[in-house]
Amino acid sequence: MKIVLENVVKEFNTFRAVRGVSLEIGSGELVALLGPSGSGKTTILRMVAGLEFADQGAIYFGDEDATNIPVRERGVGFVFQHYALFPHMTVGENIAFGMKVSKKARSKQEITDRVNDLLRLVKLEGLNDRFPSQISGGQKQRVALARALAVDPKVLLLDEPFGALDANVRHDLRRWLREIHDELGITTLFVTHDQEEALDLADRVVILDQGAIVQEGTPEQVCREPNSAFVMKFLGDTN
Ligand code: ADP
Repeated sequence: MKIVLENVVKEFNTFRAVRGVSLEIGSGELVALLGPSGSGKTTILRMVAGLEFADQGAIYFGDEDATNIPVRERGVGFVFQHYALFPHMTVGENIAFGMKVSKKARSKQEITDRVNDLLRLVKLEGLNDRFPSQISGGQKQRVALARALAVDPKVLLLDEPFGALDANVRHDLRRWLREIHDELGITTLFVTHDQEEALDLADRVVILDQGAIVQEGTPEQVCREPNSAFVMKFLGDTN
């Protein structure tokens, strides 16, 4: 599913957090929104999800104007920062929750089968009955991804998917997310402030500053030809 943002603006009171962003994400592409804290990344992601609505501009999913379509009807899977798993639900229940809130009706057996398929996909077989407090950070991240995929989304959106993990786990999960993306071919947009992560994982990187796109291109393009002192400095700053 191709996504197009046309001149999208978002204001909070009088503060313009997103200042006329136009962007196209090709079907099956894996794109990173990269920028410093406060540059508008999460707000853009939430507008694509339908968790926030644009004050101006339009968002298209394929040929459909999705600008004002609510989140439940958009067909997106969302992985929140810090995973936001439900602590009182097991791994299996967390994953099934995604299906229960979607509009498509499923029988109990269908839900169980689908949860098991998803657990296999994210390599967490056998952890169905654990609670989030009983699994590692990397495993929680996998559960969050399985929950997002449970609705068969047309689009996968991830907010700082690896932010809370240590460097080794982050590296492994990055490779693994790439594999899952390539296997499912799902249009994916993720937010990060980590230059290395964006450059390593994404097909295309969109660099933001103060609510506007300053440069976009393949990792090679933006590294080879940074178009401003800001991009040069930002890409040079690894944390
Ligand atoms: P990023 O994800 O790049 O860190 P955000 O999209 O979270 O940036 O935020 C962009 C700007 O909008 C920030 O200055 C932030 O404080 C502001 N902002 C985000 N959400 C809200 C909100 N709900 N109310 C007021 N200001 C907000």
